Order: sequence, then structure tokens, then C-alpha cells
Amino acid sequence: MLNRNDAICAIATGNGGSIAIVRVSGENAFSILKRCFSPIKRIKNAYQHGRMMYGNVYDESGETIDEAMAVCFYAPNSYTTEDVFEIQMHGGTMSAQAVLKTLVSLGARMAEPGEFTRRAFLNGRIDLSEAEAVMGIVGAKSQSALRASIRQLKGGVSAGIGKAREELISLVALISAATDFPDEIDEDVTAKNVSGRAKKVCDYLISASDKRHARILRQGASVVLAGLPNVGKSSVMNALLSCERAIVTDIPGTTRDVLTESVELNGVRLSLSDTAGLRDTEDTVEKIGVQRARDALKDADVVLYVLDAAREMTDEERENLTEMDDRYIVVLNKSDLDSVISLENAVTISAKTGEGISYLTDKIIEKIGVDAENEDLMTLPRHIECAERATEAINRAIAWIEGGMPLDFAANDLTEALNALGDITGESMNENVIDRVFKDFCVGK
Ligand code: GDP
Repeated sequence: MLNRNDAICAIATGNGGSIAIVRVSGENAFSILKRCFSPIKRIKNAYQHGRMMYGNVYDESGETIDEAMAVCFYAPNSYTTEDVFEIQMHGGTMSAQAVLKTLVSLGARMAEPGEFTRRAFLNGRIDLSEAEAVMGIVGAKSQSALRASIRQLKGGVSAGIGKAREELISLVALISAATDFPDEIDEDVTAKNVSGRAKKVCDYLISASDKRHARILRQGASVVLAGLPNVGKSSVMNALLSCERAIVTDIPGTTRDVLTESVELNGVRLSLSDTAGLRDTEDTVEKIGVQRARDALKDADVVLYVLDAAREMTDEERENLTEMDDRYIVVLNKSDLDSVISLENAVTISAKTGEGISYLTDKIIEKIGVDAENEDLMTLPRHIECAERATEAINRAIAWIEGGMPLDFAANDLTEALNALGDITGESMNENVIDRVFKDFCVGK
């Protein structure tokens, strides 16, 4: 795709809304607008920046297509930084399609997917990671994913990457000074300095590109309830969801399948799964449920292992307690009844009365260990992959230095790391990377 400034047009809204918006960007945009739209009343300075005009939109033959609102955004103060106008008309497909056809007949070209945002990027208004954030906002499936994309759009990721790049540039400069002026600059001192500072950049990139954190911010964390039948798993799930969704009965073994619900706690989306009680059974259907429960446990970020505080632990439960890894929280339920169990580190609750539930939610969030407000965290696999390429290159540079090799070797790898980070923000202007980012955009964005 060429970086042109020709007028492009597209329907910016999805199907089925009550309003449809058609957007045009590029040179001649306003002359195109004036040939297919006229305000109903004569208003002074009608075509001012940002001013909504009520009027009619016409086709090539002067026939009214629709009553509409139009608004102009003058370069550079627009989404693309070019002259942009939008026409808002009645929803449905016919009217917007007719307007689009007219715009094309007046010289605009149908936009390619993501071309408006691509222009915003190529014209320097946003960087590549901010352009991707636009897609993240459109596709967000949870509040935490939306917030992560907003942070990214406001330059959260770019700021951290910018600092890391600046540091790498200064390390490459140090190396080149040391190699250019060997009599004046001590190479050993420079080598120590560079490797120390390069390690810090690496540490930053490793923590900012943590895959588990990224997945949890994007998709949410999985929390699985486990325990023997009748300890109150479904009731705990209901208490966490604050609604009656799981079936609660006092016949052991009622939750035969894995029941999953979504809930948002402290900005992090959780998928809560209530599993079949983990017990040996001859019932074929229940057996499948128990197997699914075991599968869900393997993939869980947090497991709530529920015990009934009002009855003695079984041998199986005691054994389970010894096999737990650090994803587990032991939940001592039914605290409203006379307790016969006391366990250190268990969270005591009553699903019936709600006692301890808010403490349990705090513990779950603590166990997940993701700070949804952390500005530096990358959420997109593409960014993480670039950061990994950068850390590998930095580690190679450190290995050269520590192996006593000439500093030039390290400079090459640090430059490679610099380019990998430049792929995140688009500063490297790698055409393949840019194409890859915009290929998933929708038309009109
Ligand atoms: P599950 O088989 O582990 O999912 O257990 P359920 O949630 O179906 O609960 C089993 C029984 O324990 C039901 O009769 C619940 O009403 C009861 N129960 C669950 N939580 C509590 C609690 O906190 N206090 C009391 N007294 N009963 C509870």
C-alpha cells in the first residue's frame, strides 16, 4: 500500500446500528463533501472544525439520499492528521452504501482495512503499538483488556520501550567511543558498565513481557473450585458470583460437569469453574465430570480447595493437602457451623452467610499476582515476541562481553535488540511488521 494522501472513504460503523457513519480522509475531502452535502439552514461558518451540520446528503444526480449530520476535522487536528469529514445518517445498509457510492463517484477511493489508523501512524500522530491499541479497544472482551488497551493507546507500552531503546542507544554509543578512542577510554571499565546496564534493560523487558500476566490481562485468569462432594463448592462459587447460578443440593455429586462463569474482581476478569467433586465413582457420567475437573485443575491459575469445616477431614483430603502447589488456596467453608477442623493458612468462610468472602476475593487476586494498573505490562503476543527477540540479543551481547570478546561484537547484538524494540513502536519502519499489524484491522478503522 502506498503512503498517499488521496481521499479514502469507508463506513465506520458496524451493521445493525440506528446510526451509520461514513468517514472520508485525505486531500480534497472537503470539496467532495461540499458536492454531496448541503446544510439545511444557511449557517455562518458552517464548515468550521468540529461543528455538526444538519443537512441533506445527495447522490451524483442531485437526488436526496438521506437527512444527515456532517462534521469536518481540519488537518492536522484529525484522526489521520489529514482533512477528515464524517457523515452520520440513518442506520441500515442502504443509505450508507448509497453515500459511499456517491463519494467514490466524486473521487474518493474505498479505504483498505485499517487505512485510517495506518495514516495516523505514517503521519506520526501515533506509534505502532498505539495503533494496535485501537484494535485492542475494538476487540476488548473484558474491562481489564479494555483498560490495558487504553493504557497502550495513551503510550504506556511505548514509554517503557522508549526508555529501554534510549538506554541501548547510549550503550552502543559508549562502545563506539571506547573502540574509537582506545587510548583515552578504558575498555574494561566500559565493558563492565555496558554489561551491568544491559542486564538492567533485560530485567525490565523480561518483567514487562511476562506471558502469564499478558494472558491474564487479555483473557482473564482461571479459578477452579475443587474438593470432595458436598463441601460447598457450588455455594462458594455462587457467593463469589453473588448470584444463584450453580445448582446447590445436599445430594453428593450433583455438579457433574465443569460449570464456568465470568466475574470481574479488582479489574481482573476471572473465569470461575465449579468442578465435579473429586471422588472415585462408578457412575459413568460422573466419571467424565471428575476427569474434566482434573483437566481444569491442571490449567488453572488459582485453585480453591474447599473443605467442610464441620466434618472431619477424610484421608483423601489429607492426602490432597500434602500435594498442593502454590496455586492453591485452602478454603474452610461452613464457618457458621461448629468447626471440627483448624488449619493454618486456610481462608475461613461461610458461603451461606457470606462471612469471609471478601477476604477470599482479596486472597484470589493476591494469588493471581497481576497488577492490572501496571503501565509497563505488554499484553500483545507481537510485542512480547519482539521483547523476547530483544532480550535474546542483549543476552548474547552480555555473553560476548563476559567472554572477553571485542566490544564490537556486543554492539552488533545491542543494535539488533534496538531494532527488535523498534518493531514494537514502529520506529524501525519495517514494512513487513507494519503490514502484519494492519492486516487484521477492519475497514473504516
Ligand atoms: P458441592 O457439592 O461441594 O458443590 O456443595 P454444595 O454447594 O452443593 O453444598 C452442599 C451442601 O452444603 C448444601 O446443602 C449447602 O446448602 C450446604 N452449604 C454450603 N455452604 C455452606 C455454608 O457455608 N454453611 C452451611 N451451613 N451450609 C453450607
